[in-house]
Amino acid sequence: MSPIRVLEGSVAERIAAGEVVERPASVVKELVENSLDAGASAVEVEIQGAGTRLIRVADDGEGIPFTEVALAFQRFATSKIARLEDLDGVHTYGFRGEALPSIAAVSRIVLITRTEGSAPATRAVVTAGTVEELAVCGAPRGTVVEVERLFYNTPARLKFLKSPAREGSLIAEAVHRAAMANPEVAFRLTLDGRVAGRWPRSSHRERAAGLLGVGDPAELVHGSEAIPGGRLEGWLGRPERGRPNRLGQHVFVNQRSVQSALLRRAVEQGYSQLLPVGRHPVFILFLEVRADWVDVNVHPRKLEVRFKDEGALFGAVARAVRTALLASPLTRSVASGMAERDAAGPGATPSPLGTAEDAAALGGSLLWPDDSSIAEPGEPGSLYSAGRRLPALKPLGQALATYIIAEAPDAIYLVDQHAAHERVLYERLVASRRKGGVPSQVLAVPVTVELPAALMALVAAQQDHLRQAGFDVEPFGSGTAVLRSVPVLAAGAPAEEMFHRALGALAGEGEGNGVFERLCIATACHTAIRAGDRLSTGAMERLLADLAVAEDPFTCFHGRPTAVALPKAQVERWFLRG
Ligand code: ADP
Ligand code: MG
Repeated sequence: MSPIRVLEGSVAERIAAGEVVERPASVVKELVENSLDAGASAVEVEIQGAGTRLIRVADDGEGIPFTEVALAFQRFATSKIARLEDLDGVHTYGFRGEALPSIAAVSRIVLITRTEGSAPATRAVVTAGTVEELAVCGAPRGTVVEVERLFYNTPARLKFLKSPAREGSLIAEAVHRAAMANPEVAFRLTLDGRVAGRWPRSSHRERAAGLLGVGDPAELVHGSEAIPGGRLEGWLGRPERGRPNRLGQHVFVNQRSVQSALLRRAVEQGYSQLLPVGRHPVFILFLEVRADWVDVNVHPRKLEVRFKDEGALFGAVARAVRTALLASPLTRSVASGMAERDAAGPGATPSPLGTAEDAAALGGSLLWPDDSSIAEPGEPGSLYSAGRRLPALKPLGQALATYIIAEAPDAIYLVDQHAAHERVLYERLVASRRKGGVPSQVLAVPVTVELPAALMALVAAQQDHLRQAGFDVEPFGSGTAVLRSVPVLAAGAPAEEMFHRALGALAGEGEGNGVFERLCIATACHTAIRAGDRLSTGAMERLLADLAVAEDPFTCFHGRPTAVALPKAQVERWFLRG
């Protein structure tokens, strides 16, 4: 073994640099954050060779005075905090004074900067951490940092980089995140001479829509709510914008982009049953939380957060998202965008589609039927106090033996009879739990099924849930279970098949959180009118009336829409009226 010795400064710098400067995207993140900390109103990022040839970040911020430029490249030199106590109130991205020296240790930097008051600008050249040149020159106010030949003296790190395309997309993500949190700042990103993104100064809504890939900003659902220890603001994509992955989900805590499985799950919970299984909503969530409520680990590689009361926060976020979503008109219309707003615009529909207060008045009553910790049981009598959320619909007939054509004062609706009935039955089942359980009917002939031991154990353990959901299932000897009664709603359906569905729900098959919810879904799905069933006018009227008072009339629990609106204004455009 070699003798122990203190590392030479330059070696130590290069090792430490790895913490901040892991890859080109982390350099971009640090430089852009410095620009934002300097109060820039425009930031331009230019990349060549996936960042290993050149990273150039230019801003119009406050600049660095000549006398301080060399200092900026020293470790732990920062203008952002002076004392340890300042840490609590820090409002800037940076405060450790580590980024510039760390980047400088593994590259060649040319920095040009000018403050408002000083006439000439300063030009500094720093190679491998050493300031080699310090001169004056002419330049506009602000700072330009050019990082050349990143990692030229750390070949191991260079080898560790991913493909240029991958590094390029990580760089773009870093710029996107900065742009999301700072809509009042203009951004431009150029990759190898090609403009990869340009975001003019804008409102939060427009910036969010642009970055989430939602064409029309008006389409985003906005939620803003007080939460334990602070406030949240969310920009939520409509359910049909859902994607098969979670790449469109962004969480910011006190302006910093963070990884938080907790908050993502909370938002997804707010969307539950609005999206088909396997689709994930797109959203940007901003949380502003008091310093004593949050512990943000600002280590550049793991931006993880811990909160004081995670349970309460989870519930508050999920509820706020749910409230915002339910308060917005979610019915799809034939041409989204224009037509959508026509349908929802003030005065366009005589019966209101529901307001935020309506949704708030509903509380958590039906939203989390499992009474999990986040649900607040509502008053039984207040379930439908929010009134209609769909306009009154008059059935005109049935098309393709599957869709009810209905008329509202200002729109024509197509209603999927199966999806709508599923929704109605499901809500009815869940609501009856509060009145002591789902009414059940004893089968004339009990059904007996042989079961593996694990499922037998489940039947025994879940008997209460089963009974509440209207199923009387009992273990009967070893390896056999017998079904004695089913929910009244399902009494007409083949009992044997109903039994298998109930067992499937018990074993965790199908959708729904928790046994009770899954059992209700299984019952509703199995019992609902099917596509292809012919309906009488009376049956259609009943179904539409029931749907109109449903808490969530817009989607079935598989996340499919129940109704599609064709606004009168749209029809008039088609026929060139008005
Ligand atoms: P930190 O951001 O943690 O303070 P950095 O190493 O990133 O540390 O930057 C060191 C200092 O250099 C900053 O505190 C700031 O005073 C100055 N600085 C860096 N970049 C800029 C910039 N784009 N505009 C103005 N000042 C800057
Ligand atoms: Mg910094």
